Amino acid sequence: MAVGDRGRDARAHDPLHDGPGDLHLHSDRSDGTEPPAAVMAAAHRHGLEVVALTDHDTTTGWAEAAEAATSLGMTFLPGIELSARHEWRSVHVLGYLLDPDDGALRALTDRIRESRLTRARRIVENIGRDYALTWDDVRAHTADDATVGRPHIADALVTTGHVRDRAEAFAGILHPRGGYYVELYAPDPVTAVATIVAAGGVPVIAHPAGRAGLLPARLVERMLDAGLAGFELGHRENVEPALRTLRELTRERGLIATGSSDYHGAGKPNVPGEFTTSAEMVERIVARGTGSAPVAP
Ligand code: AMP
Ligand code: FE
Ligand code: FE
Ligand code: ZN
Repeated sequence: MAVGDRGRDARAHDPLHDGPGDLHLHSDRSDGTEPPAAVMAAAHRHGLEVVALTDHDTTTGWAEAAEAATSLGMTFLPGIELSARHEWRSVHVLGYLLDPDDGALRALTDRIRESRLTRARRIVENIGRDYALTWDDVRAHTADDATVGRPHIADALVTTGHVRDRAEAFAGILHPRGGYYVELYAPDPVTAVATIVAAGGVPVIAHPAGRAGLLPARLVERMLDAGLAGFELGHRENVEPALRTLRELTRERGLIATGSSDYHGAGKPNVPGEFTTSAEMVERIVARGTGSAPVAP
């Protein structure tokens, strides 16, 4: 099915459902289950025309993804999803068209990934007190140099028979209050936004209206002052009433609104193209990004 066909059903024209772009996809360079080329092939099967690879805290999948996307006739936008935190809540900041070799960006992502590794090993040690689980079990699910996270531990818990799927692992053993959790180092969201901007990128807050509710208004203003470009209004985890507030803010301030699937291969039920980004918003992102270029077919 072509992406354009989606708009011809009963639903009125809705750029978050009938646009050409899906700008939030994960590969096995982080916690997706497929290599970058396979992720691009999945997006193409779902009729997408513009795609971004946004692995957590790494850009190492770009070359393979760009090659695969363009050979399938799609336009590729280089992307990343930075792990940030405000007080207790995790805030994910997407960045598009940033310079992967920018020194401050590299320093930040190196620090996050190093912390993720130490922290994952500690979580596994904690779990190992009660369940038969080793670091080797986790490594078996982690591609070389991939950004490691709780999803890889979840996959190891599935393989070792302790849970049925990632969702069950996250609801129990891997939950922050599950008894085994260890925090990772994560910058505050303003730093993440500013780092993406300084690297020539375009920052967009991922799944900004999730169950944790609205981000504090003061934080949003500080992020906007730091160069935040917009919000991922189309994402399955967004819920009302926070979503309505952000929709209004986006309209009032003329911000960029994206919609995306947050595809993780077999790691989540999310399907490429389940939310989409309009051609107009893709153009605005491309006009604003200066750190790297979109790759056309
Ligand atoms: P971490 O950053 O290592 O703390 O792990 C958080 C990551 O796990 C997020 O990026 C999500 O992609 C993923 N995640 C969170 N909840 C779930 C879930 N219920 N099922 C599958 N993946 C999840
Ligand atoms: Fe993820
Ligand atoms: Fe995320
Ligand atoms: Zn994501």
